[in-house]
Order: sequence, then C-alpha cells, then structure tokens
Amino acid sequence: MDFSLTETQLSLQRLAHEFAEKEIRPVARERERIRDPKERFPWEILEKGSRLGLRTLSLPEERGGAGATILDLCVVGEELAWGDLGVAVTFDQTWKISHFLDRMWNEEQRGRFLQAFLEDHRFHLAVGMTEPDAGSENFIPADRADHGVRLRAVRDGDGWVLNGMKHFISNGGIAKLYVLVTRTDPKVAALKGMTYFMVAPGTKGFTIGEVHDKMGQRLSQNAELIFENCRVPDRDRITEVGGGARARAGSFSRGSVIESAATALGPARAAYEDAVEYAKNRVQGGKPIIQHQAIGFALADCYIEYVSARQTLHYAAWMAMKDEGYDPKLGYMAKAYASEACFRIAKRALEVWGGMGYMTEAPMEKYLRDVTSFLHSAGTNEAQHVRSMPYL
Ligand SMILES: Cc1cc2nc3c(=O)[nH]c(=O)nc-3n(C[C@H](O)[C@H](O)[C@H](O)COP(=O)(O)OP(=O)(O)OC[C@H]3O[C@@H](n4cnc5c(N)ncnc54)[C@H](O)[C@@H]3O)c2cc1C
Repeated sequence: MDFSLTETQLSLQRLAHEFAEKEIRPVARERERIRDPKERFPWEILEKGSRLGLRTLSLPEERGGAGATILDLCVVGEELAWGDLGVAVTFDQTWKISHFLDRMWNEEQRGRFLQAFLEDHRFHLAVGMTEPDAGSENFIPADRADHGVRLRAVRDGDGWVLNGMKHFISNGGIAKLYVLVTRTDPKVAALKGMTYFMVAPGTKGFTIGEVHDKMGQRLSQNAELIFENCRVPDRDRITEVGGGARARAGSFSRGSVIESAATALGPARAAYEDAVEYAKNRVQGGKPIIQHQAIGFALADCYIEYVSARQTLHYAAWMAMKDEGYDPKLGYMAKAYASEACFRIAKRALEVWGGMGYMTEAPMEKYLRDVTSFLHSAGTNEAQHVRSMPYL
C-alpha cells in the first residue's frame, strides 16, 4: 500500500494552499463579519479561484475540467477551507453537482449547459433536498409514503408543475442552476417516488425566499427556494421519473459526503497551528505554556485527531474511487468521525488561547463556529450513525 499523494495531488495542494494564503486568508475574517449575507458574499475571491481552474475541477478533462478524483477534491477542499470554510464549501457544492450533472445529462442537456458553465466564472451550482418538513428523513429513508421530500412535481402536458419549498440550500441565491429533488409520486415511499430536475433562476414561479444568516461558514450563502406553480419542461428532467434515489445512490452520494467532510479538516488544522504558535509564545508560570504538560497533551490530542480524521477520509475516498467493493457506510462513518474530531480539535485549540481564544479579535472562535456546521450539514451525525449501523 502506498499512502503518499501523487505529484498531481501535491501540485493541486500547493495551488490551493497558495490561493488560500494570498487571496482568502487576508480578507476572510473581516469579510465574514459583514451583516448582510449578500453583501459579504466573496464574489471576487470565487472569480479569481475560477480563473485558476478551481471551479471546474471535478469535470472530466475531455469536457473542459481537470478530471479531479474524490481524493484530489479532499486535498484541495482542505486547503481552501484552511483559508475559509465558506469559500471551500461554495466550490465543493459546484464540484459535486457538476460531477453529478455530467453523469446525468443527455447530449441535448449537455449542449445547452456545459459551455455556459465552463465559460462563466460566476456559474455555481446548488442542490435542493432539505425542506422544512423533510430533513433527516431524506438521509434515513423509511418505507412510508408520508416521509421525505414533499416538493410536488405534477405532470402537465410536455412539462411539470412544481409547488413547495426547500430551505438551508448552499449556494442558494447565487447559483446559476439548481438541481432539485421533487416528489413525483406521493403514494409510494420517497425512495421510489423522487425525480430530479434542473431549474434556472428567473424561471417563472421560482423565487429565492429568505437568505439565511449563519453562525459559521458565513462566506457561503444558504437560502430558501420557493416554487409556486413553477413550470419546468420535461427536457429539464435529469433522472427517470421515480428514479431519483437510484441516481443519487449511483453517483451523487458515493463521494460527496467524503469530499464535503474533508473541508472541515481545513479550519481544524488552522486552529491547531494557531494554538501551537500561541502556546510557544504565551508565558505563564515562568515558561511558555507549551511546556506545561496539560497544554502539550492538548496539542498532541489535536494532532492525533487531525491525522486520524484525515487518514479516515482519505481511505474512504480511495475506496470510493474503486469500481468494486465500496460500502457506502464507510463514507457515512468517515463523515461522522471526522466532523466530530474537527469540532473537538477547534474547541481544544480555542482553550489553549485561554480568555483570548473567546475574543473576536483572535482567530479561534471563527474556526469553532465554522467546523460546527459539519455536525449537521451533509446529513446530521445522528443520521450518519443510523446509516452506519451494521445490521442496516
Ligand atoms: C451549513 C448547512 C448547509 C446545508 N446545505 C444544504 C444543501 O445544500 N442542500 C440541502 O438539501 N440541504 C442542506 N442543508 C440541510 C441539511 O442537510 C439538514 O439540515 C440536515 O439534513 C438535517 O435536517 P434538519 O435540519 O431538518 O434536522 P432534523 O431532521 O429535524 O433533525 C433534528 C435532530 O434530530 C435528529 N434526528 C432526526 N431524525 C432522526 C432519526 N431518525 N434518528 C436519530 N436522530 C434523528 C437529527 O440528527 C438532529 O439532531 C444544509 C445544512 C447546513 C447546516
């Protein structure tokens, strides 16, 4: 077994790290304090990243992307998130959805959207699954018709009429194309009655509701999507009718939970690094606090957990890239373990800074606010535990 990163992965890692260091870090902390979510959205950073090829990384090379694997995306996502988690998540949403769309598009759909996606540095993507009445039910589906996605799509001539809403959607309000999970058959379990569509902003009957304000990950944008008699042509359907769950299992969910969770490593590592620096310089009891065993152990625990979380995610990514023998439970377990570990690292690192760690003039509280998001997003850790149970 060879655990080393390839030359390509190392150069992607360098590129993403330099970008994070030069373009993201210098502005992220000030920028994320802007109150209005739309005003603080960092378009100029995203555009610069897109010009470096970061936005289109996950598309195959023959379609104009970089053909990045799940493991490549884990490596790049961590570096970007070391700069700022919100920026990394904005890119990551677009990576996983463009990868999904590339697999699902027929030639006619690809012809309509691919070129625009490649050329427009502001072309980001979003996926709408969660609704006010359907959250974890989408991750732990039951064999019941009254659970899961409610947003209705009703056949009407050569199209579909959508009614309902989504909330908490990453890239909501900034995306140029939305992948939407709908219920085409409310009489059967969601697993059999879901269908995916694409909807562009500006489609009659589709509006952006509230743009949510968030505790962390504040440089990504989340919003409500509202559908009122929104007419979508059948040519914008991207799965078979009732085939949404199958399409998601076959492609979407395989690597996306892993690469998403890898972004949480970024703020956790940054918190650890800043805690080490602080502990070397802060003197109490006549010596730098790093020489107090309690602090040394706290920092060692941070590092142990960081390395374990990273290796667990990379192993899951490596397994998910294989054609055979991949058990999706590995991804669910890796997400739950890594996000909890990153949360503990950021919490411990904050404590190393003592009272200063709690002050907004220090960098530590932002790391903690940011990593907290991954306890819930990409499926809550309770949901991931349920999905990881050995007898399911
Ligand atoms: C930053 C962020 C970004 C997001 N981005 C997107 C996005 O782009 N697209 C999208 O569709 N969604 C997105 N979400 C939504 C996210 O997927 C949901 O918040 C998540 O699935 C939980 O759903 P819920 O909020 O309705 O919580 P609920 O399902 O109401 O859960 C509440 C609590 O009950 C627990 N719980 C619920 N059911 C069970 C059960 N059966 N067994 C054990 N415990 C259970 C949960 O674990 C949780 O602790 C995002 C969320 C966040 C925070």
